[in-house]
Amino acid sequence: MQLISHAPTGPIEQSWDKHKFDLKLINPANKRKYNIIVVGSGLAGGAAAASLGELGYNVQCFCYQDSPRRAHSIAAQGGINAAKNYHNDGDSIYRLFYDTVKGGDFRAREANVYRLAQVSVNIIDQCVAQGVPFAREYGGLLDNRSFGGAQVSRTFYARGQTGQQLLLGAYQALERQIALGSVTMHPRMDMLDLIVLDGQARGIVTRSLYDGKIEVHIADAVILATGGYGNVFYLSTNAKGCNATAIWRAYKRGALFANPCFTQIHPTCIPVAGEYQSKLTLMSESLRNDGRIWVPKQAGDKRAPGSIPESERDYYLERRYPSFGNLVPRDIASRAAKAECDAGRGVGETGLGVYLDLADSIQRLGKRTIAERYGNLIEMYERITGENPYEVPMRIYPASHYVMGGLWVDYNLMSTIPGLFVLGEANFSDHGANRLGASALMQGLADGYFIIPYTIGNYLATAKPAKIADDAPAAKQAVENASAITKKLLNGNGKRTVDSFHRELGKIVWDNCGMARNEAGLKKALSQIPALREEFWKNLRVLGANEEFNQSLEKAGRVADFFELAELMCLDALDRKESCGGHFREEYQTPEGEALRDDANYSYVAAWEFQGEGRAPALTKEPLTFTYVHPSQRSYK
Ligand SMILES: Cc1cc2nc3c(=O)[nH]c(=O)nc-3n(C[C@H](O)[C@H](O)[C@H](O)COP(=O)(O)OP(=O)(O)OC[C@H]3O[C@@H](n4cnc5c(N)ncnc54)[C@H](O)[C@@H]3O)c2cc1C
Repeated sequence: MQLISHAPTGPIEQSWDKHKFDLKLINPANKRKYNIIVVGSGLAGGAAAASLGELGYNVQCFCYQDSPRRAHSIAAQGGINAAKNYHNDGDSIYRLFYDTVKGGDFRAREANVYRLAQVSVNIIDQCVAQGVPFAREYGGLLDNRSFGGAQVSRTFYARGQTGQQLLLGAYQALERQIALGSVTMHPRMDMLDLIVLDGQARGIVTRSLYDGKIEVHIADAVILATGGYGNVFYLSTNAKGCNATAIWRAYKRGALFANPCFTQIHPTCIPVAGEYQSKLTLMSESLRNDGRIWVPKQAGDKRAPGSIPESERDYYLERRYPSFGNLVPRDIASRAAKAECDAGRGVGETGLGVYLDLADSIQRLGKRTIAERYGNLIEMYERITGENPYEVPMRIYPASHYVMGGLWVDYNLMSTIPGLFVLGEANFSDHGANRLGASALMQGLADGYFIIPYTIGNYLATAKPAKIADDAPAAKQAVENASAITKKLLNGNGKRTVDSFHRELGKIVWDNCGMARNEAGLKKALSQIPALREEFWKNLRVLGANEEFNQSLEKAGRVADFFELAELMCLDALDRKESCGGHFREEYQTPEGEALRDDANYSYVAAWEFQGEGRAPALTKEPLTFTYVHPSQRSYK
C-alpha cells in the first residue's frame, strides 16, 4: 500500500488556505442529500456533528453514553492552547507550530501541525461566542497559563474544568442542530463494525446497549471520533468506558493503524494505592505552573515532607532543566520521576511517588489565588487521598493518559478507506511521539469545527457515493460478524471475570510497553499476550444476557479488542529501534538518559495493515520531511 498524505507543498503559511480553495464544494441545497455518520460526541465528534448539521448535511451521531454531554472530553482539566499572544510574551502561530513539532520529537507531519497552530486562534473565538466561560484577568481579558514544552503562556482555561466547559459549548451547538432536525442523536449505541462496500466506507453496525438489538446504518461517509485507547493499560486517567473498538474494527476492515506504540504517560497523577484499584486520577499539568516538584536528596528518606529541610530536597526538574524547569514536556517529566523512584528517592508508602509542592506559591500569591486557579483539583486530591495540599505537598506519579497513535489519516483527515474520516484522539495526526499539554482539546476542536467541514465536502463531491440498501451483502456480513462476536463472548462458560483479564493484560503492557521498553521485555510481552488471550476466550465468564443492559458484555468486547491492539503496540515498539518522545527504548538513550532518535532510519510514520486473523500485519512507512523545523536533539536545558 502506498500512503499519500495529500499534504500541500509550497509556503506552509499559505498551504491550508490554498488547499481549501482547491477543495471541491457542494452547493448548499445539495448538502441535505448527503447522509453522514459521526461516531462520537466528544469535543471532536460533537464539534463535527454540530458543524456539519449547521452546513445542512443530514447527520446521524452515535455515542455509547446516555447523553453526548458525558463524553470523556468532559474530564479534561487544565486548558486548551491557542497562539493568540494575549500575554504579549512572544507567542505566534509559528512558535506554536515549532513547539509542537519539537515537542513531538520530530515524528509529526509539518503541514498538519502548522494548520493546527493556524486554526487554534479561531477555536477560542468560536468558543467565546458560544459562551464558554474561560478564566479572565482582572481587566476582563481572557487569561492564559503555561503548559509543558512552552516558554510562553498560551493556555486558555476554565479553572480545572476546561473540557467540561468546552464540551458544554459543543453540546449546545449539537443540541441546536438536533432541535432543527439536521442531526439525529443515537445515545447508548455501540459501534461494532464498519460497512465497506466497493472499497468505500458506507455505514456502521451498532448494538443497542439497552436491549442488544443489532442495527445497520448506511451513509455516504463515516466519521470516527471515538477517542483514545489509553485504557489498554487497565489503570489510566481515562474514563472507564474509553475503548478502541470502533477504530480497531475499522482497522480490521482495511484502515491502517499508525504509530500504535506512541502512548503518553502523564507525570502528575495520584499514585496507585493498591492492587484492586480500577482507575487513576489526573492532577492537571497546570499545577506545574505553581507547584514545584521535588524528592528527598537521600535515598530511603522516610521523614514527613515538612521535616525535610530545603537543603536536603532535590528540585530535580529545576536542576536538570533550568530553562523549562517544572514545565518540561510530559515524556521528560515522567521519565525523570521514574528515574528518581528507581533510584530509591521516591516518596509515599510504595516509594512510587514524588512531591508536587504548592507551598512557595501559596506564600507568594496567597491561598485564595491558588484556590481560584486549582480549587477543584485540590479538593479532588483531598477527597481521594485524605491529605490537604494547602498544608502538605501532593504525591504524584506518572500514569497512562493519552495516545498519540491511532488510525492513519491524510491531510484531509481521511483514513486509507475512502469515505472513512477519523478525528480527535482516535487519529494519529498532529502530535508525533509526544503530545504537549493542552493540545488535545485544540486538535479535537480544530478537526471538528474547522477542518472536516471543508474536507468531507470535497470527498462527497468527488466520490459521488451511489445509493445502497440496508441489506447489501457487505452490511449483512458486518451484522453477522458483530453478532458472532457477541455470541462468542456470552457462550464462554469459564471462571474469570473480564476485569481480571483486563488487569492482567494491562500489567503486561505497562511493564513491557509503558514508560520504558526494551527488546527482551517486548518479546516477552509478545509471547504473554497471545497466551493470555487464548485463556480469555476459554476461561471468560460474562454474566447476564444480550437482550438487556449488560455492562460486563460491553466491557468484554472492548477487552477482546484491547488484547489484539496490545500485541500491535508491542510489535510497533519492537520494530522502532530508536527512542523518541514517549517511546523510550532503553537501548537507545543519550549519556544523560534522554531519548536518542535515529532520524536516518526511523523518520517515518509506521502504518500497520491488517492481513487476516493469525497473520502478521504489514508495515507501510510514510516518510517525514522537515523543511521548517529542523530535527535536532531536543533540549529543554
Ligand atoms: C483526566 C484527563 C484530563 C485531560 N485534560 C486535558 C486538558 O486539560 N487539555 C487537553 O488538551 N487535553 C486534555 N486531555 C485529553 C483530552 O481530554 C482528550 O484527548 C480529548 O478530550 C479526546 O476527545 P475526543 O473527542 O477525541 O474523544 P472523547 O471525548 O473520548 O469522545 C469519544 C466519543 O466516542 C464515543 N465512542 C467511543 N467508542 C464508541 C463506540 N464503539 N460506539 C459508539 N460511540 C463510541 C463516546 O461515546 C464518546 O462520545 C485530558 C485527558 C484526561 C484523561
